[in-house]
Amino acid sequence: MTLKLAIVGSGASGCYIAEAIAKLDSTAEIDVIERLATPFGLIRYGVAPDHQGTKAIVRTLDRILGHERVCFFGAVSVGRDIELAELRNLYDVIVLATGINRDRKLCIPGENLAGISGSGAFAGWYNDHVEAVRPALDLGRTRSVVVIGNGNVALDIARILAKTEPEFAGSDLSPAQTRTLAALPLESIHVIGRRGLAHAKFSLHELRELAGLANASVRVSPEDLANGPDIGDKTIRSFFETHCATSRNRNKPVEIRFHAGLDPFEFMGSDKVNAVRFKRKQWNGENYVPSGEIELSADFVVTSIGYDFFDRFDLGSSGGVLRNDDGKIQDGLYVVGWAKRGPSGVIGTNRADSQFVAQRILKEIRSSGRPGRAGLQVKLAERGIDWIDYAGWKRIEAAEGAAALPGRTRQKVANIAQQISIAQGVSL
Ligand code: NAP
Repeated sequence: MTLKLAIVGSGASGCYIAEAIAKLDSTAEIDVIERLATPFGLIRYGVAPDHQGTKAIVRTLDRILGHERVCFFGAVSVGRDIELAELRNLYDVIVLATGINRDRKLCIPGENLAGISGSGAFAGWYNDHVEAVRPALDLGRTRSVVVIGNGNVALDIARILAKTEPEFAGSDLSPAQTRTLAALPLESIHVIGRRGLAHAKFSLHELRELAGLANASVRVSPEDLANGPDIGDKTIRSFFETHCATSRNRNKPVEIRFHAGLDPFEFMGSDKVNAVRFKRKQWNGENYVPSGEIELSADFVVTSIGYDFFDRFDLGSSGGVLRNDDGKIQDGLYVVGWAKRGPSGVIGTNRADSQFVAQRILKEIRSSGRPGRAGLQVKLAERGIDWIDYAGWKRIEAAEGAAALPGRTRQKVANIAQQISIAQGVSL
């Protein structure tokens, strides 16, 4: 009998487990159910628009979705259109590939002021996410930005803010976002680490991109560079040593400045943010010890401190992920990707992870003659839910390619109703 498997989520980990199951079981019927009308999760809506090389992985993932035994069900939300319990009755196996995409909060006073955004929300804005919340301030007056966090997402934020219009050539940044960013009267972008640079999670490639920007210089002060243990990675140490200076480079209008040992404890402002207050910590050779407070003025703040797991199906969480034993949650219910192991690693990390869980599933689960796809189609039809199939997604993709302006790879359809109309072949 044919194994019937449903994957909830069509980001990298969801696509990779579809690929692995299709390879390992030559008859399995695999359905990928996605809340949005379009696939690929954070690759479409999280990876920066000027990182088209990274986004190009969607060509591989797209081939997986187009596989003859894989069926895409876009615009179907589990928990709204169909319950997880119902899916479990329809399929032999359910794999949750729902990711982690709720911005972690600092939980400090002033965090709800206008002008403060989580990195996921801000990346959603510059990626034209259909549910993007526009930054709640007039970005046009932004001179000083504080980016809290020392990971690659913080570098994405700094780079996108600092780039000039021509530097977005070849990206898929939309005209509206391009205009907003190009008009910023930016002077300073402060990238804040609560510990020293030795603990930062930056990749060299992303650091070097900052150093190559037309209008921005990179700087770390000698005090900040020394505030922490030695940077273990030689190339990253050498990067910061090269950009170590006591004063800013006046030849470029924007400075991207790295700070070490600053713990944010309060956002200042009456209706919108105007400053961030930090406890300073000084490295004494063994530990960080308190050494006063400082305040940095800020017209816009992005907190780039990772993501919190949201237990949308009430399955229980542990350590910020869905409680699981090497990918297994319960009999017939598995998890892959960030929801399984947390928000870390590169896109390719998901491939090996999904392959591992696929092997486990095929060892543990036998088909029990459940209806699978046919049953899901009946339920959705009964409820009047128009799902987007793979052909519908390809129509959206083609429309976005055709609408691309010169210098852009695509113009994303930024509205879910419009995406659905295009997928259904309705001419707009
Ligand atoms: P991340 O790498 O985990 O970095 C999070 C940063 O936030 C860390 O510096 C952490 O500091 C800091 N932080 C956490 N809680 C904080 C708090 N309460 N106060 C101040 N700072 C706090 O997360 P990310 O940057 O969101 O990246 C997520 C994943 O995506 C990573 O695997 C990343 O490499 C990947 N990614 C890759 C690329 C690329 O390859 N181009 C681009 C974007 C993202 P501590 O270390 O002190 O906890």
